[in-house]
Amino acid sequence: MASGDAIATTCPYCGVGCGVLVSPLEGGGFSVRGDPAHPANQGRLCSKGAALADTLGLDGRLLRPIVHGVETDWDDALDAVADGFRAAVARHGPDAVALYVSGQLLTEDYYVANKLAKGALGTANIDTNSRLCMASAVAAYKRAFGADTVPCDYEDLEQADLVVLVGSNLAWCHPVLYQRLRRAREQRPGLKVVVIDPRRTPTCDLADLHLAIAPGADGWLFAGLLSYLRREDALDWAFLEAHVEGFAAAFAAARAAGEGLPELAQRCGLAPDDLGAFFRWFARTERVVTLWSQGINQSSSGSDKGNAIINCHLATGRIGRPGMGPFSITGQPNAMGGREVGGLANTLAAHMDYTAENVARVERFWGLPGLPAAPGLKAVDLFRAIGEGRVKAVWIMATNPMVSLPDAGAMREALSRCELVVVSDSQRDTDTTALAHVLLPAATWGEKSGTVTNSERRISRQRAFLAPPGEARPDWWILTQVARRLGHAAAFPYASPADVFREHARLSAFENDGARDFDIGGLAGLGDAEYEAMPPLAWPAPSGRHAPPRLFADGRYYTPSGKARMVATAPRAPVHAPDDAYPLVLNTGRVRDQWHTMTRTARAPRLNAHLPEPTLQLHPEDGRRLGIGNGQLAVVASRWGEAVGRVDLTPTQRPGAAFAPIHWSGAFGSRLAVGAAVNPVVDPVSGEPEFKHTPVRIAPLRAAWHGFVLARQRLDLRDRLHWNEIAGAGYWRYELADDTLPASWGAAARALLGDGEWLELEDRGAGRYRGALIRDGRLEGCVFVAPTHQLPPRNWLADLFGQAQLDDADRASLLAGRPTAGRKDGGAIVCSCFGVGRNTLVDAIRAQGLATVEAVGAALKAGTNCGSCIPELRGLLGGTPAQS
Ligand code: SF4
Repeated sequence: MASGDAIATTCPYCGVGCGVLVSPLEGGGFSVRGDPAHPANQGRLCSKGAALADTLGLDGRLLRPIVHGVETDWDDALDAVADGFRAAVARHGPDAVALYVSGQLLTEDYYVANKLAKGALGTANIDTNSRLCMASAVAAYKRAFGADTVPCDYEDLEQADLVVLVGSNLAWCHPVLYQRLRRAREQRPGLKVVVIDPRRTPTCDLADLHLAIAPGADGWLFAGLLSYLRREDALDWAFLEAHVEGFAAAFAAARAAGEGLPELAQRCGLAPDDLGAFFRWFARTERVVTLWSQGINQSSSGSDKGNAIINCHLATGRIGRPGMGPFSITGQPNAMGGREVGGLANTLAAHMDYTAENVARVERFWGLPGLPAAPGLKAVDLFRAIGEGRVKAVWIMATNPMVSLPDAGAMREALSRCELVVVSDSQRDTDTTALAHVLLPAATWGEKSGTVTNSERRISRQRAFLAPPGEARPDWWILTQVARRLGHAAAFPYASPADVFREHARLSAFENDGARDFDIGGLAGLGDAEYEAMPPLAWPAPSGRHAPPRLFADGRYYTPSGKARMVATAPRAPVHAPDDAYPLVLNTGRVRDQWHTMTRTARAPRLNAHLPEPTLQLHPEDGRRLGIGNGQLAVVASRWGEAVGRVDLTPTQRPGAAFAPIHWSGAFGSRLAVGAAVNPVVDPVSGEPEFKHTPVRIAPLRAAWHGFVLARQRLDLRDRLHWNEIAGAGYWRYELADDTLPASWGAAARALLGDGEWLELEDRGAGRYRGALIRDGRLEGCVFVAPTHQLPPRNWLADLFGQAQLDDADRASLLAGRPTAGRKDGGAIVCSCFGVGRNTLVDAIRAQGLATVEAVGAALKAGTNCGSCIPELRGLLGGTPAQS
């Protein structure tokens, strides 16, 4: 739907699902702003959403199909896929083929992929990368409610009197929700926020109480809370009797987990008073929302932890009413859409599980007999099956599992043995496309049309505003063409995403008299124009009967008895405990300004400026003990693999724990993908990997020299012990370390950047070199080398690339390795919208006596656009220490 000149669509990143308005600019390009009419964000955007227009370039795009390394046309490529899958099924049966898809797909893509796998190929082996982020929450909801029903919406967060954020760095991972919560707190200071997280994240800026829980102890905490609620007579017995089953066993299991507050506090690594305060607040507050995400889900007991949270809400009857409920939010933009169509290997379609009745129903609806009768392989098991030769052909869509899966080295090994690897992607070179036999060019955000569902079950349109470049095509189209080649033209008649959506809506309502939660039958009759204009709306949206005003308001659930279930959970420790060989616990997660494996966000220099390298956060005590200094490169190694990061010593980490971001891959440097070190243990119910708890050891990276290069042109510096490349505004930045010294640094620098006017300073004895190449008065590139990681800051040097002519002072500063008088090093970027660095902020706060975020904004503009940096600004103002 157009709004003026603008196209209304949705942000392709996180599960908040913000509406954006995209407008063409005179002279080319687009502007992106938050859509004030979209209920999820009401005009707000975070730093990633605000930079979307910077990510639209064609650099690195896959533009034509490629079969066995040779560019070809669509007919040839589609024949290769169809023939390969047909042959694998004929020789080895349907379970020898698989699809691995993504929460980046639109629902229409997802629907056709699911139908192709189950209906046309006859395999249940279709799983999604959403398995890695929220499968445990799905399992918990299904056990408790009999269906994968998220019972809350974003307004509940604003209406609550107590919001408990568990394992969620909302400020960085779901920034617009964080902004909504912060605004609600400003308007209603009585709203309390508790953050339960081993790390003191920027989200703690909002916390009345931060419980820095010991890694993996959440199950005990919520079992302890349930026991406390019972002891303190804070239960809703009328609700329990009328609407809940299994509560006696759940209370007994919680009691068995330990009741005494001091013991519980000790197990959780918390002060008894803090734990007691949280329990009291929870017991005495009626309107409580407990929001959780990957910190709970990515655990070998993630499903049980989810149920332990839900148990506390059921025991107090705090569900189905405004301002309360157990609320799992998703990482990806369309994880919920994947759940709706059956994109998880253990679900069939339209929120139906694998029962004989459901299988027969879907066969009837699709007109495709021979659907699989039982669930397929979940992500980690699927790639193991590929490695063991049980799965012979796999089609990977819109995801980069060689970076994102745990034990990535073993997964790479597995995929390299697979007989047929098909990858649909918009990008030519990823860690996964490198292993593909067939590459299919997929359309991407801005070029695709369809729908996505956000964390509050709100279905929104994504609308195209660009033609796909080259031969790129939408995924639903590619899948449809393959299905037709497999002989199923009649069952795959789609000519548009609207055709697919209408069928998806009809299936949701098919033989559904209210027994299934997911019903959007009211949308099945949308015409093309109505589909095009469809406003954001939350499901259910049934046809011919009113959608309930609020799910579970009537106390009826989707279990056979109609009652919710409290699940008796026994807390258990992570599978692998730290030991003498691997004494630290590694936790992985997201950073503020990057998304997934950076194929899109790393195109925006302003997003790269926030954290130009992958960091390895450690408590300063651990740094001292291990002999690792701040800013040093270090290797984090586990029994499964290793990765390299730049050490950030910060008291925001618990002693004994480390944190590394998930985003970096082989496309950006050597050994940067932390997934290589993550243990592949999964939750036995959900199959979700234990990303939050891998025993590791950490040691300094030993190298003969360390250095960095800033260059106007892109260079190839891969052949080093350590290299890391990132795009800046008008330059490329390379961080390097190696164990081989060149014969001459001057010659090496010239070989790299070329001849011309060189400014150089070398101290051979000390192993230091500085060189800068000037062409036509402009800085062309510079090389800085030292025997240790202690090198000049990069930000002020990077600023010199923006100057048309370097003056004498600039030239002197290049050799001095520091800014000369009148020029300052702004420091690491905090506000990416306006490029304001940490040093600039600290100086202004001190010099001008700035005391509030508003005053900082008035002085420097920082924090006045998207607001994503506000928690860090508060940290600099004296609250929570800002994370670097
Ligand atoms: Fe996109 Fe940010 Fe909104 Fe998430 S919070 S949908 S990343 S703009």
